[in-house]
Amino acid sequence: MTDRELPSVAASPLWDDRLLEGFDFSCRTDCALCCYAAPRIDAADRHAWGAAARSVPHEIDAEGTRRIPEQAPGGACRMLTGTRCSIHRWRPGVCASFPVDVYAGIGRWQASVVLSCPGLSLGGLGRSARGAGAVPPTLGGALAAERIAARARTKEPVAVDAFRRVTQRRASLERRGQRRPGWADAPTIRASLRETSELPWAGQWPGEPPPSADQGSEYLPLFFDHRAGPVAIADDGDAWELLELRPNGRTEDLGRFRLPESPPRLTAEGAHALRSYLAYWLDRDGLWDLAVAGWIADEERRPLEERLVEELGVVGATVVARGYVRALARGDPGVSLDRSAVENGIRASDADLLDRATLGAVL
Ligand code: SF4
Ligand code: SF4
Repeated sequence: MTDRELPSVAASPLWDDRLLEGFDFSCRTDCALCCYAAPRIDAADRHAWGAAARSVPHEIDAEGTRRIPEQAPGGACRMLTGTRCSIHRWRPGVCASFPVDVYAGIGRWQASVVLSCPGLSLGGLGRSARGAGAVPPTLGGALAAERIAARARTKEPVAVDAFRRVTQRRASLERRGQRRPGWADAPTIRASLRETSELPWAGQWPGEPPPSADQGSEYLPLFFDHRAGPVAIADDGDAWELLELRPNGRTEDLGRFRLPESPPRLTAEGAHALRSYLAYWLDRDGLWDLAVAGWIADEERRPLEERLVEELGVVGATVVARGYVRALARGDPGVSLDRSAVENGIRASDADLLDRATLGAVL
């Protein structure tokens, strides 16, 4: 995804793309996972399209956001033909920037990668502590076009307004938090948790369950399978089912898989992969916002650090549960999950976990 004409964007102190470091990216032509969506149309997209904007189908959703509709609920975007975008050169900024995710974070727009994208290597997960200290932002290297497109989206007036509102709301929450025992700021808690060799997840087993298929396949977490293409995970009572998705919204059942009562074991490499992923989440401001909101609503008055650890545990357990189900679907007994099984769990969870309603998820 490199041939869209990208606007040049001046340096801004509010842009932080350190969480993009270390990842290689090459879009897979057989994939289209990210096109099972109704992509948002920004003002800059309509401006770039000019009179041609009238020929791009669009609808306004319940929040007032203009989008290209799906072919059917849970299906692919109407601009998808086979696994190709029919308006690739002029696709919306949200598509041109994928797999870069942008979050209205703590005093900055924070970019990170959506690790469900199979075109990304997971090599960047091994790096740690990128959220600490002052590192100047870069615009070169892997994901260069995507990060420029993502950064351009933060310049839209609607994004600037949203950022201001989020910053005011976060400051107000922080003032409330500081009046309660157990408060500590994000750098302090992150530094403390980076020293912890084990980030607990087993206590949160089995993490965030997927919705049931009855709720609509558009709400289900997805992953890419090189044989089946986009596959959804759905809760089906005492088991989870896997559903192959078609662009027209139809699904094909790939089987039901039962989770064990207690979490499976991880090999040493599997545990290392999970720790690296949890360290990545620790630096994402969305997790911090989730923890603060839950902690303020919590009557128990536990330290905020405990709440953040709990949220990390949910992330870890979700990854292991989905990795386990994917292992069973491949015919693996799932007795212990190795690095590849954990990485499959990460691929099946990351976009879904990033989609949770958090304070700064405004783009
Ligand atoms: S999910 Fe990633 S690899 Fe697949 S089409 Fe989208 S950008 Fe390309
Ligand atoms: S506009 Fe193109 S790239 Fe974007 S979701 Fe639709 S088909 Fe995919």
